[in-house]
Amino acid sequence: MQPTYPGLTSRSAVVDPRLVQDPSILWCDGIAISAAGVGVGHTVDVHILLVEDDESIAVSLIDGLREAGYTVTHVETGSAALEAPTTDAVLLDLGLPDMDGRDVCRVLRSRGNVPIIMLTARGDEFDRVLGLELGADDYVTKPFSFRELVARLRAVARRSTPGAASVAEPSGAQVVGPLEIDRRTRRVRLDGVEVMLTAKEFDLVAYLAVDPGAVCTRTDILENVWDVNWFGPTKTVDAHVAAIRKKLGNPQWIAAVRGVGFRLEQPV
Ligand code: CA
Repeated sequence: MQPTYPGLTSRSAVVDPRLVQDPSILWCDGIAISAAGVGVGHTVDVHILLVEDDESIAVSLIDGLREAGYTVTHVETGSAALEAPTTDAVLLDLGLPDMDGRDVCRVLRSRGNVPIIMLTARGDEFDRVLGLELGADDYVTKPFSFRELVARLRAVARRSTPGAASVAEPSGAQVVGPLEIDRRTRRVRLDGVEVMLTAKEFDLVAYLAVDPGAVCTRTDILENVWDVNWFGPTKTVDAHVAAIRKKLGNPQWIAAVRGVGFRLEQPV
C-alpha cells in the first residue's frame, strides 16, 4: 500500500491564501509565474519549468517547490514550454490543451539534457517505455505526493549529471527553526553549530526534512534512504533515529508515530 502524505493530493483543490499574499511570488492572470525562496532560508538558483494547464495543481506545485527552495516558471501550453528559457529541470504534464506532452518532451530532449519528469493523470495511456524512449527521465501519476515528486526530481538530477548531485538541489540550506540542513555540502547545523552526522544519518534527516511535520513510514524511509531492495530489519531506521536524536540533543526533533513511522519537526 502506498503511504500518503500531506501534499498535492490534499492541497490541489484550493489556492493557499498565503500564496496570494506572498510578495515573493509574481502573478500573471491569477497564476503564479515565478517564486523565490524568500523567507525560508534558501539561496535559490535552481530553476524548474512547470508545464501544467490545471491551475489548482500548478498553484500547489509552485507553493511546494518554493518552500523546498526552487524557483519556478509556469506555463500552461506546449508551445509556451517550447518558447520558455532553458531551466535546470522540467515538470511536464502529458495532457496539454494545444499539444501532446510527448511531443513537447521529444522536442525538449532534442535540444539538450535537461531532466524531464512527466506528470500523468490516472487513466492516461502513458507507456513508461515509450516515455523513456522519448527522453523523459521519469514520470509520476496524479495524484502524487509532493514528497514523491521532490525525491524523483533529485534522483533524475543525480542521474543526468553524474558527480554533480547539486544541480537540481537548492544551493542554500533548508531551515527548520534552529536546524539548518544543507544538502549541497551535506552539513547540518543546530543553532549555528555543526552536528556531525554519518552519511546515512544525514540522508535520513534530509529525507524527513523534505516535508517537516509529515509522517514517513518505515518502509518509505527504507526505500528512499537505504535501498529499494532493502530486506534487512526495519530496526535499522530506529537505531539511526536514536543516534540522530542524541546528536541533536532533543528526542522531540524526530517524533515516532506509533505503528506508522517518523516525522521531523521543531520541538515545542
Ligand atoms: Ca492537463
